[in-house]
Amino acid sequence: MTEPDRPDGPGEALIRVNGLTKHYTVRARNLRSLATRRSIVHAVDDISFELFPGTCIALVGESGSGKSTVGRVLTYLDRPTSGEVLLRGKAPNLKKRSEVRNYRSQVQLILQDPYASLNPVHTVAYHLERPLRIHDMVKSKSEARATIIRLLEEVHLTPAAQVIDKLPHELSGGQRQRVAIARAVAVQPSVLVADEPVSMLDVSVRLSILNLLNELVTKSRLALLYITHDIASARYFAERLLVMYAGEILESGPSEEVTQSPAHPYTQLLISAAPDPDASARGTRRKMRAPGENPSLIAPPSGCRFHPRCPHAMDICAKSRPPRFQINDSHWTSCWLFGDTPQTQPGAAAELPAPQKKVTKTTGSTRDEQ
Ligand code: SF4
Repeated sequence: MTEPDRPDGPGEALIRVNGLTKHYTVRARNLRSLATRRSIVHAVDDISFELFPGTCIALVGESGSGKSTVGRVLTYLDRPTSGEVLLRGKAPNLKKRSEVRNYRSQVQLILQDPYASLNPVHTVAYHLERPLRIHDMVKSKSEARATIIRLLEEVHLTPAAQVIDKLPHELSGGQRQRVAIARAVAVQPSVLVADEPVSMLDVSVRLSILNLLNELVTKSRLALLYITHDIASARYFAERLLVMYAGEILESGPSEEVTQSPAHPYTQLLISAAPDPDASARGTRRKMRAPGENPSLIAPPSGCRFHPRCPHAMDICAKSRPPRFQINDSHWTSCWLFGDTPQTQPGAAAELPAPQKKVTKTTGSTRDEQ
């Protein structure tokens, strides 16, 4: 099991994820023999991290890297295959519906698609009153209406009286996402999991939604897990980045440091693919080549899962999963290039930044891959 990713958070962790693994079973039928084949999808494998009040951590990676699965397990929409998710040090008893309900009132999910996440036949008032009723937070119709008005004002949907009785199709994408955010904060959670909350919105409103989330984190001391494929917005928005690839976390550190001095070749690939108008204008933009696609999660590559695409791959990379190597107190990466005796291929290390401080191996998982 990997060690929890322990940044110097303010106070005790609200959420502690320990060695979380989520595998799904899929069945496919052979049309000739009609035999059914059972396969395991390794969506998330042995990840650990912590979320602290009043802070935002971004989980960054390409589509299919397992980011959304982490969000679903954190909110107990899916149960972990192994490992644990602790809220204030305690895992809910999943056999007790009341405990799961209480857990969900504390950990809320904001979905990517504001068009699909609201029921088209119900008004804004209905969407916001429902969680208040389910979690017994209001006693009367008038109290519910007053609370809904306050929630709409909190997410800057004003004048609230003009919005409260509207149907979703009468709202813009940005307004719908604000309603979804109001619904998530209606039950006064401690933790928000925002799964690509702005990727389906018009570019012009993305910043205002991110600013709104930032305001809620600061004002209500929420812990926010921001799930995104956009490393540029993650840098702007989050204090810390967790870079995920093929179900594993490959690098973690302060946002500014990870984006300015990325250690892992996959992080470098993500950054080189992100739009940077300044570098393009200066002509200093350098694209990194990493041919291939995300690997199959049914039969993930052995050793380092990035090795089939990595321009720096060495013999050891296909054989053994790299443990965590500390670059400094708050920044680590899982890459054999940062081991004690890197065996770099000729010319390969030229593009890599030198480790910033003494690199030490820590107690990450050292299991060999299947
Ligand atoms: Fe590349 Fe090897 Fe590092 Fe994986 S461990 S990123 S294959 S150099």
